[in-house]
Amino acid sequence: LAKKAGRSCFRFYTTAIQEKAARHLQLVNALRVALEQQQFHIHYQPQLSMAGGQLVGAEALLRWEHPELGNISPAEFIPVAEDCGLILQLGEWVLRHAVRQARQWREQGLALVMGVNLSAVQFRQPDLPALVARILQEEGLPASALELELTEGVAMYDPQQAIAVMNVLHEQGVRMSIDDFGTGYSSLNLLKQFRVYKLKIDQSFVRDIVTDPEDRAIVAAIIDMAENLGLLTIAEGVETEEQLSWLRAQGCDELQGYLFSRPLPAAAFAAYAQQHQPAAAPARS
Ligand code: C2E
Ligand code: MG
Ligand code: MG
Ligand code: MG
Repeated sequence: LAKKAGRSCFRFYTTAIQEKAARHLQLVNALRVALEQQQFHIHYQPQLSMAGGQLVGAEALLRWEHPELGNISPAEFIPVAEDCGLILQLGEWVLRHAVRQARQWREQGLALVMGVNLSAVQFRQPDLPALVARILQEEGLPASALELELTEGVAMYDPQQAIAVMNVLHEQGVRMSIDDFGTGYSSLNLLKQFRVYKLKIDQSFVRDIVTDPEDRAIVAAIIDMAENLGLLTIAEGVETEEQLSWLRAQGCDELQGYLFSRPLPAAAFAAYAQQHQPAAAPARS
């Protein structure tokens, strides 16, 4: 075989691939240890209503601080955890801890909807609805206070299965939203069959909303469509006042982004909430 020639031609590529594979392996091994050693924690990013500016929700975002490798982005380690099957354990950990946190905040008078990202692998588990129900019950949070975020890809991979699972979760009272909306390949025909109540407009469209006519057209169309379908919209990645005022004029319902707050550790989130919801009455579940 032409192994020799191939090798010299593709040395550059093989080196890059080997480095990638080595990093992958390193992360797989590190992830196993990380679960045992509690290297994970969750940050919470505020979600505000456009109408009154109140804090209405929090998105739970996983953080991994490795003792030697430092902070590793979920954008890097979630796909690795999916590949090696650890995502199920990790996803359950996030779900349980975010639900527990939401319940603790409710007890302190801070009633929020807690958004938790679901991986495709989790969504395909037949026992997902049972797992969600069990965690809600064990942690004492009403189902309506939980929002599961699915990306379009997750929902479209096997639409019939997705519809069936969403129906069950919906029956249980859990809310679902479509994350990064606009970046995937949603069939609009299927969208109306999905039991989602909110579209999260991807930050890539929000970023250039002030200057890019195409991004404006896309976001305007998403907001219009959502309104006509009876869905809420939340804009992700809102960073400037200009973006905010355009989104307000357009009728976007909710906001999330650095303009309001970065994702925060639980204690800092509670402090933020104190400032943004001073008159909230204690909520009972
Ligand atoms: P996502 O679910 O779309 O989360 C929003 C991401 O945008 C977060 O990045 C957040 O920190 C970031 N962000 C929020 N506001 C702004 C802004 O104004 N400007 C910019 N530039 N970025 C903003 P993060 O925390 O790095 O998470 C990246 C992705 O990793 C998430 O995207 C989600 O897909 C995934 N992820 C995070 N936590 C989990 C988890 O617990 N489970 C699963 N399956 N995926 C997760
Ligand atoms: Mg999300
Ligand atoms: Mg998103
Ligand atoms: Mg994303």
